Amino acid sequence: MTRRLGCFGGTFDPVHQAHLRMARAFRDELGLDEVRLIPAGQPYHRTAGPQASAQDRLAMVTLALADEPGLVADGREVARLRPAYTVETLAELRSEIGPQAELWCLIGGDSLEQLDTWHRWQDLLRLANIAVALRPGFDAERLPPAVATEWQARQVTDFSKRTPSGTMRPLALPPVDVSATDIRSRLARGASVADALPPAVAAYIARHGLYRTP
Ligand code: ATP
Repeated sequence: MTRRLGCFGGTFDPVHQAHLRMARAFRDELGLDEVRLIPAGQPYHRTAGPQASAQDRLAMVTLALADEPGLVADGREVARLRPAYTVETLAELRSEIGPQAELWCLIGGDSLEQLDTWHRWQDLLRLANIAVALRPGFDAERLPPAVATEWQARQVTDFSKRTPSGTMRPLALPPVDVSATDIRSRLARGASVADALPPAVAAYIARHGLYRTP
């Protein structure tokens, strides 16, 4: 059987319920054997750096996935001492699994809207397939023209035709209105975040006193 590996990168500052729902839908809708959640060490495309350290963000992802079959925390970007580009991470994963295996990369709809700003973005599709979790407010009309062209040309209607890389696919998961920005601001004002975080992550944040300042 061809191996099917999924990769889901993000800041995860902190990892939240929408990330988990996305990762589960990604695993289940695409029948993936394994999904790696890969926290960015030093995200290069953000103006402000993450608030929590890379080690804390990786620890929270590891806790969040403890009881999630097929979802695994992967610390490779945290271990890098310079900003990691997604294209490099995908190239590494591709060399680990070989040319025949299916590789999928999951992004949110807001990331799709900026895909053409990612380093060597067209190489992403040479290395992997891209799955997109639409976010509330997503509008395909707003995609930059070069991304819109790929988005239209690479969607496959016959899902029995699976390829190691090169296709794009929206997840059927209904959009979920949760963001790490909102969670951080709730934590800074002492408001409840119980509905938005896995309990082990909420406990870690409380224990380590994270996100107390805006
Ligand atoms: P922030 O609010 O700090 O930007 P975030 O949760 O949006 O946080 P990341 O932790 O970097 O951002 O998320 C990783 C990926 O998950 C990104 O591609 C982002 O678009 C996507 N994502 C996050 N939350 C959602 C959501 N509710 N629906 C769809 N995609 C999401």
